[in-house]
Amino acid sequence: MSKPSHDPDAFAELRDAVAALCSRFTGEYWRKIDEERSYPELFVKALTDAGYLAALIPEEYGGSGLGVTEASIILEAINRSGGNSAVCHGQMYTMGTILRHGSKEQKAKYLPKVASGELRLQAFAVTEPTTGTDTTRLKTAAVRKGDHYVVNGQKVWISRVLYSDMMLLLARTTPFDQVKKKSDGLSVFLVDLREAVGKGLTVKPIRNMMNAQTNELFFDDLKVPAENLIGEEGKGFKCILDGMNAERVLIAAECIGDGYWFVEKATNYAKQRVVFGRPIGQNQGIQFPIARAYVNVQAADLMRYKAARLFDEGKPCGAEANMAKLLAADASWEAADVAMQTHGGFGFAAEYDIERKFRETKLFQIAPISTNLILSYIGEHVLGLPRSF
Ligand SMILES: Cc1cc2nc3c(=O)[nH]c(=O)nc-3n(C[C@H](O)[C@H](O)[C@H](O)COP(=O)(O)OP(=O)(O)OC[C@H]3O[C@@H](n4cnc5c(N)ncnc54)[C@H](O)[C@@H]3O)c2cc1C
Repeated sequence: MSKPSHDPDAFAELRDAVAALCSRFTGEYWRKIDEERSYPELFVKALTDAGYLAALIPEEYGGSGLGVTEASIILEAINRSGGNSAVCHGQMYTMGTILRHGSKEQKAKYLPKVASGELRLQAFAVTEPTTGTDTTRLKTAAVRKGDHYVVNGQKVWISRVLYSDMMLLLARTTPFDQVKKKSDGLSVFLVDLREAVGKGLTVKPIRNMMNAQTNELFFDDLKVPAENLIGEEGKGFKCILDGMNAERVLIAAECIGDGYWFVEKATNYAKQRVVFGRPIGQNQGIQFPIARAYVNVQAADLMRYKAARLFDEGKPCGAEANMAKLLAADASWEAADVAMQTHGGFGFAAEYDIERKFRETKLFQIAPISTNLILSYIGEHVLGLPRSF
């Protein structure tokens, strides 16, 4: 792999290498996985073996030591090939909390195994059914009892738990009414799922719109060793916040991959589908929406590179990462709609893959952060408008 660079043209080699790997996993492969609601083990293994999921792990821990820019190229290329990075993107960045806030011992113990794929750390439990986006109000509580914490509560929409060995958990260690700042009193724990499931942790898969391996979690006196606390007790919110900018950029890249895929599918179909004696793409009513979708994907792509560059340079990038995520999610959703419209009735047929990718890309309007919450962030923190909640 090449060393970090911020010139988009410098990534052709990496992009092509990921695309070559992905070409072994065709639309037929992804359709079958989607239909069965199964897990793409072969694909995830191939990515892991090639080292792509360890892109962000420093070389001293067995990873490639690349930047968010390169990592974003990898995820973009997967989605651009017709695949779905969301099945395993968590393995790439969930470890960031340990890398940035874990102790020396925790890093040495976990990161090399995450890098090699021996350990899957791709689940991250934040969202709760009664509090949703209002994260600091979350109710799952971890109470210290000697050498361990006892966890009680509930989470919802927690992805990949059944395909992960470890999970990061955000829980309250000090009740909300006893903290000065609402983001205080939250702590991050590393939960060993191999020990926890069935012994205080119950996992209930949620049947959903696409093949997202996502779950409800019930904690009933789950014991977590005190040594599995990441960072300082009560300061967990900060630990997860700085990983969120990286996540936003990486998700933006997935949207951009989707956006290009939809535009290419729509363009090809519009060239060859003949109705009224001419290709439908000759009609500007078909041509212009595809062209506009392409323009918007390109524009979002620029903000993705800007945000990624700032992150890799260690500069503040909250506004850019959020803007990249919003622009890219909107662009991919627009492109999805255009591709569906261009395909007419055939867009609904599973064998064209449009309806599958349409379902998959809709998620990014809502998770991991919804469009409204990004607008609220920009309004309040960038433009200085009055705080609304
Ligand atoms: C497939 C899938 C996978 C997921 N994976 C994970 C995971 O692995 N880990 C995890 O922790 N979470 C995960 N999530 C949860 C996801 O992050 C949340 O669904 C998302 O943050 C929104 O929370 P909510 O669903 O509770 O919506 P709510 O908070 O109930 O909001 C509902 C709607 O109201 C809007 N809204 C709320 N408050 C305001 C306001 N003040 N102003 C304007 N609009 C507002 C929101 O933008 C949203 O559109 C996943 C979700 C899905 C669907």
